[in-house]
Amino acid sequence: MAATTLSNGHESTDDHHVVICKKCHKELERVNRDSFVRVFLSWLPLKKYFCTRCLRSRYILGK
Ligand SMILES: [Zn+2]
Repeated sequence: MAATTLSNGHESTDDHHVVICKKCHKELERVNRDSFVRVFLSWLPLKKYFCTRCLRSRYILGK
């Protein structure tokens, strides 16, 4: 009874997740996380997005 893996057939839907900029409502670009996030916050489902219109990047806590 080692059912610890969450497999519901929706694992690939993460790549299609669309994040919209709250300011200009443009679709944010997915960019690589900073190295410090990758090292210290690697356990968090953080994703970094970049708005090409506002020229601002933000981290989104995804699932
Ligand atoms: Zn924006």
